[in-house]
Amino acid sequence: MISGIVYIVGAGPGDPGLITVKGVECLRRADVIIYDRLVSPHLLDYAPFQAERIYVGKASSDHILSQKETNRLLVERARQGKTVVRLKGGDPFVFGRGGEEALALVEACIPFEVVPGVTSAIAAPAYAGIPVTHRGVARSFAVFSGHRTEGETRGGGDAETAAVSSQPSAVSRPLSAISRQPSADTLGSERGPWTVERETQIFLMGMENLGSIVASLLEEGYSSETPVALVRWGTTPQQETVVGTLGDIVERGRGVHPPAVLVVGQVVSLRERLKWFEDRPLFGKRILVTRSREQASKLSCLLAEQGAEPIDFPVIQILPMEDDTPLDEALAHPHDWVIFTSANGVKAVWDRLQAAGRDARAFAGVRLCAIGPATAAELASHGLHADFVPAEYVAEAIVAGIGDVAGQRIMLPRADIAQEFLA
Ligand code: SAH
Repeated sequence: MISGIVYIVGAGPGDPGLITVKGVECLRRADVIIYDRLVSPHLLDYAPFQAERIYVGKASSDHILSQKETNRLLVERARQGKTVVRLKGGDPFVFGRGGEEALALVEACIPFEVVPGVTSAIAAPAYAGIPVTHRGVARSFAVFSGHRTEGETRGGGDAETAAVSSQPSAVSRPLSAISRQPSADTLGSERGPWTVERETQIFLMGMENLGSIVASLLEEGYSSETPVALVRWGTTPQQETVVGTLGDIVERGRGVHPPAVLVVGQVVSLRERLKWFEDRPLFGKRILVTRSREQASKLSCLLAEQGAEPIDFPVIQILPMEDDTPLDEALAHPHDWVIFTSANGVKAVWDRLQAAGRDARAFAGVRLCAIGPATAAELASHGLHADFVPAEYVAEAIVAGIGDVAGQRIMLPRADIAQEFLA
């Protein structure tokens, strides 16, 4: 029997631009995509239209499929000969149970590959302006799970069961992962290069246990003045950062819900100067883009680059003309001016010219006006130079700019919903 293959792919932390090139290639040839909650929905657009998309959840309160069922699904689809992409938030081997899924595939003799991803543990702080290491401040970082399951001595990276497992016993037990920190009496003392710069501590899945994590760190000798940051929905337009100290972060972070990364250490102080992402001019703004679907994406990308969250909401649609005759007849006559008020108008006219077996020579001796640079560029793509482009891209400026047109023949190709002013 020919088996398919499973690609265990890291989707990155949220910003859809943070998936790897290899990850995108896998998505492009996927027959099936099995994805988690923290995966950007935009990434699914890379997959072929007909690919099967299966959501398996994975918030602590939202597991559509259990881990066992997910493993079984991977095996089953691969056995059908399919190319399966297992798309997981961040990096698949950082608290993502990617290792367990790979083991299930090994057991079932299914070929697989792992495509690492950008983990939220580093990327969320980076987008909040916090480098996890910094010369003279922190020379190492450690990533912990803020969840612990009963019977585990380290922070157990179990996104599914751990939220349910915050029984008092689990909460009151200090996190042993932290206990390898220097004790209070060695803090700040010169004990060689390894203790002068403190390690940055990063916790994923830490919100439910924030109180006990902080208490453990304080017990381990961390000063209550240690800078701390919570970065929620890092790398996305909804990113929210709450900064405080070990002494007050529990209070300040009260309204912060998962998913969030907790960063503990002096590196957090660098944020004040390095918070580039949240400082972009349109950060935090949701903007409806009402252009036609085909034309919206360019504007949306520009808005996103400035920090906005663009929402495509087309209120117009560009359709071919119902009746070509008026335009064909107009094109059959000579004109003094042709005034284009949109790139779409240029396209429509060019299509009809071509349909009549004609080309740019049809405009020999005709003066061309474009309402703005995009329209002029569309003309240029057909080898046509706009004789006049107003400084201000509005109909009024065209009238003022083309001068006295008394007695001239003017062609004005435009949409049927365009304003009457220019005519
Ligand atoms: N494999 C993932 C982590 C999965 S565990 C990775 O490498 O990023 C899920 C936890 O990751 C969440 O509880 C949260 O702590 C963190 N997380 C994931 N995406 C995040 C984001 N965009 N912003 C902040 N934290 C995030």
